[in-house]
Amino acid sequence: MNNKEYIKQEFERVKKNLYKAERKAFGSADKLAVWFVEQLESQKFACFYCETSIFDINQLIDAGLLKTRAVKGKGRRGPVLEIDKNDDTYVPENCVLSCYYCNNDKSYISSKEDYKGYFGKNRQQYFRTLLDKLNKASQKS
Ligand SMILES: [Zn+2]
Repeated sequence: MNNKEYIKQEFERVKKNLYKAERKAFGSADKLAVWFVEQLESQKFACFYCETSIFDINQLIDAGLLKTRAVKGKGRRGPVLEIDKNDDTYVPENCVLSCYYCNNDKSYISSKEDYKGYFGKNRQQYFRTLLDKLNKASQKS
């Protein structure tokens, strides 16, 4: 799938998954989906915190090196970038796209900047190590 197809797919997915708080913050499902894909492009398809591409993350998931989390009625968390609303102020200007792994870990504990600086870099290193492992394994076979 190329970037254009991915954007199209995510636009449709996000439009369908609108929560009450998101509707309030973004106005409508369409506005949320537009914001999401614009953000996706400006973040270069990568998590705001660990700066790992969602395509790389999916490679790790497919290879079984990363686990996803099942969510009742909503499929699995892990394969797509999520909206991190940062603090409790749910306004689009404060939101970033985060991988599930950073979003879940960050929770409400740290500010956006603190989390990125202290923990995002460590996760990035960890993901890179896994990707190196995967690339070496695929070179051998
Ligand atoms: Zn991340």
